[in-house]
Amino acid sequence: MSRILIIEDELSIAELEKDYLEMDGFEVRIEISGEDGLNAALKEEFDLILLDLMLPELDGFEVCREIRGKKDTPILLVSAKKSDEDKIRGLGLGADDYITKPFSPSEMVARVKAHLARYERLISSGGRQNEMVEVRGLRIDKTTRRVYLNGEEKFFTNKEFDLLVFLAQNPNRVFSKEELFNKIWDMESVGDIATVTVHIKKIREKIEYSTSKPQYIETVWGVGYRFRV
Ligand code: CA
Repeated sequence: MSRILIIEDELSIAELEKDYLEMDGFEVRIEISGEDGLNAALKEEFDLILLDLMLPELDGFEVCREIRGKKDTPILLVSAKKSDEDKIRGLGLGADDYITKPFSPSEMVARVKAHLARYERLISSGGRQNEMVEVRGLRIDKTTRRVYLNGEEKFFTNKEFDLLVFLAQNPNRVFSKEELFNKIWDMESVGDIATVTVHIKKIREKIEYSTSKPQYIETVWGVGYRFRV
């Protein structure tokens, strides 16, 4: 039996969703706050999460981001406003789909089923197995080119991302700035080894707790940089 988590502060809507899902044989749990919903989503296993966007305090956007940083459970966003559509797309929160209130309960159930079926296919085909590099709370998803530090997404430019991945995939090896420049930037690139220094600095600002005492990318004086594992 598939388990669905509903995160929705309006109990009448949550109950309606629950009734229809239960009629179709789903096991349903309701959480009425973003915080409780997030806790449940992270601690327990659900097959799909129906997530209302407008929640008091911790809103649906934040809940979605937090869940996606740690889990790939399908998320169906429920939005009260048609005008949220662009925002949902633009934010790239990693939600799988969204529906706008008021929706017909049978359409909602159909969407839930479609996403569960899609997710099953992805898992069985191995398509959901993203290529990951994980080191002490730092998670680099090479498939989606996203980086998370303790579950929180950090945003990287293309070159910053390439440089971080290259170093993280060659741990404990020291690379000179020249080597890194040659590896990451192509021949036609304008720039020099100072470009590497600038990029390392930017990466550190995003992933290091202390940029003066970096725990991931170490400076090896007079030689270059090393990614520590
Ligand atoms: Ca709401």
